[in-house]
Amino acid sequence: MYRTVTCGDLRITHVSQSVTLAGWVQSSRNLGGMTFIDLRDRYGITQLVFNLEDNEELCLAARKLGREYVIQIKGTVRERSAKNANRPTGDVEIQVTELVVLNASSVPPFTIEDESDGGEELRMKYRYLDIRRNPVKEKLLFRHQIALETRKYLSELQFTEIETPYLIKSTPEGARDFVVPSRMNQGQFYALPQSPQTFKQILMVAGMDRYFQIVRCFRDEDLRADRQPEFTQIDCEMAFVEEEDILITFEGLMKHLFKTILQIELPDFPRMSYDEALRDYGSDKPDLRFDMKIQHLNDSLKDKGFAVFDNAELVAGIVCKGIGESYSNKDINDLTDWVKRPQIGAKGLVYIKYNQDGSLKSSVGKFFTDEQLKELAQKVGAEAGDLLLILAGTHDATLKQCGELRLEMARRMNLMKPGEFKAFWVLDFPLLEWDEESQRFFAMHHPFTSPLPQDMHKLNSSDKDTLKSIRAAAYDMVINGAEVGGGSIRIHDRALQAQNFKLLGFTEEEAEAQFGFLLGAFEYGAPPHGGIAFGLDRVCAIMQGSTSIRDYIAFPKNNQGRDMMIDAPSALELKQLNELGVSVMQK
Ligand code: ASP
Repeated sequence: MYRTVTCGDLRITHVSQSVTLAGWVQSSRNLGGMTFIDLRDRYGITQLVFNLEDNEELCLAARKLGREYVIQIKGTVRERSAKNANRPTGDVEIQVTELVVLNASSVPPFTIEDESDGGEELRMKYRYLDIRRNPVKEKLLFRHQIALETRKYLSELQFTEIETPYLIKSTPEGARDFVVPSRMNQGQFYALPQSPQTFKQILMVAGMDRYFQIVRCFRDEDLRADRQPEFTQIDCEMAFVEEEDILITFEGLMKHLFKTILQIELPDFPRMSYDEALRDYGSDKPDLRFDMKIQHLNDSLKDKGFAVFDNAELVAGIVCKGIGESYSNKDINDLTDWVKRPQIGAKGLVYIKYNQDGSLKSSVGKFFTDEQLKELAQKVGAEAGDLLLILAGTHDATLKQCGELRLEMARRMNLMKPGEFKAFWVLDFPLLEWDEESQRFFAMHHPFTSPLPQDMHKLNSSDKDTLKSIRAAAYDMVINGAEVGGGSIRIHDRALQAQNFKLLGFTEEEAEAQFGFLLGAFEYGAPPHGGIAFGLDRVCAIMQGSTSIRDYIAFPKNNQGRDMMIDAPSALELKQLNELGVSVMQK
C-alpha cells in the first residue's frame, strides 16, 4: 500500500497513529537538528519532521530531497508545537521513521505555489506542473462538481446522456469547421461538430424524448481571450415542449447548480425581450448587477440647434450616480479618448454635471439653456451630484456604444460586485440577420430555429424589413453580462424547414445535399421539440467570477490556437499525407 492516508486527512484526533503517506515535496527547511518537509498531494499538505539526533541517516537523506521529488514515508502523527491555523492539517506533523524516494524531479521551471512566478505560456507548456498548483487544481475540481450536478439534475428529470459522433459532415453555416481528411474516401473530409445540433434533433425524431450530453464542440474561429477552438457544452433537447417548458427546466438547472455548489438561492429569472435589452442596455447580454439604463434623449435634445445632435439618428446617454463632482476634466478627457477608440467608435462624448449647489457644467452649455438641461435631468432621473454622459450618431451604433460605455462606467465606479449574480432570460431574438456584405439573410441562432407562431405569417413576405422583424422562439440565458446558454424551439415540419432554408439563400439542391437527412427525418413523424446548450467552461468561470474560460480547461490552447505542451498543430510526414490523399502547398 502506497499510503494509508492522504496529505489532507490528518487532524489532532489522529495523534500517535502510525501512518504511511505519499506525495510531492513542496518545500523543505533545515533548522539546526531538524528538517521539515511539506508533503503535498491533491488533498492537502502535511508537515514531516526528521530529527538528526533520532536518526542521522534518515535526516541526511531527507536533506537531499529536492522540490517535487515523489516520496513515500512512514511515521507517527504528533501534535505540533507551532501550529499553522491556515492549514486544515496544521495542528499535526509526522515524525518520520522510514523514507522511500519513489521518483526524483528536475528543478521545476516555475514555483508550484498559489502565486506562481511562471508566465502563462511557460505554465501552459508545463501544464502538469501548473495543475499541481492549488488555484488550477481547484478549478478542475469545481468543473467536475458542475458536470456531476448537471448529470444528477437532468437524469432525475428523465434526460438520457447519449453520445453523438465527432466525425460528421461540414456545413457552410455558422463558424468555420475543423476538418479531418478521410483516408478511406480520398478527397473527402469529415468535419468536427460545432455542436451536435442536428443529431439531437434526430434523437427527438427517434423518440428518445429527453437528451443531454456534456460534449466537446469545435469552432475554427479567430480566438479571443474567452474563446477556445474546442470547448464543452451541456447540450440538451426535449420533445413535446413549448418555450415555457424549456425556460422552466433550465432555469431549474442553473438554480440547482448555484444552490448545490455555491449555496446560493437564485430568485426566479426575470425575462426581457431582445428589443428591450438593446433599447435599455445596448446589448443582448446586459449585465444587470447595476441599473444605469440607457436614456433615449431625442425628444429633449434634437432640433435645438446643436448640429451633432440634430444630425444624429439617436441621442442617448447614461446617468452615473453620485460621481458628478468627483469627476475631473482629466477623467472626462480620458473617457472621451476611451469612447473614441476604434473598438468603441464614438465620435465624441458630451457630459453634463449636475452640481450639489444646483449649478451645472456641460460641454454643450452654449447650445442649451440651464433650464433645458435641468428639465432633462428631471426626465432621466439625474439628481444633484450625478453625471450624465451622452453619445449621438446612427441608431444601432449609438446604442451599442452606450452599452459599452455603461459597462466601462460600471467598471470605473466599481458597480460589479464579486459574489453577486443576476441571471435572466433574453427572449424573442430576431429569426434572421441581414448581412450587407453578402446581401443575404443569415439565421441569427441557427437554421433550425422556429419563428414565433404569431410571426409565422411574415415568412412569405418579400419585404426585407418585414423579414427582419420576424421574431424567433429563441432564448439566451444571461448571467452577469455573459451569455451562458442559448437555444430555441425548432422547426419540426418539413415544408417550414424547407421554406426557412430558402429564406437563407439555399437552393433546394443545396438544402437537400447538406441537410437532406434532417428533412428526410422530418417526413417520419417528427415531434415538436426544442432545446438549449450551455457553455460548461463559461458557466464555471461565471460562477467563480473569473474572466477566463481557459482556467477551467485542463489542457487549453493559447491565443494562436496552439497546445503548448504537445506542440500542436504540427506538420505531417509526406507518407502520411499521401496516404490521406492530401497534398500540401509548400509556403
Ligand atoms: N446548438 C446550439 C448552439 O450551439 C444550441 C441550441 O440551439 O441548442 O448554440
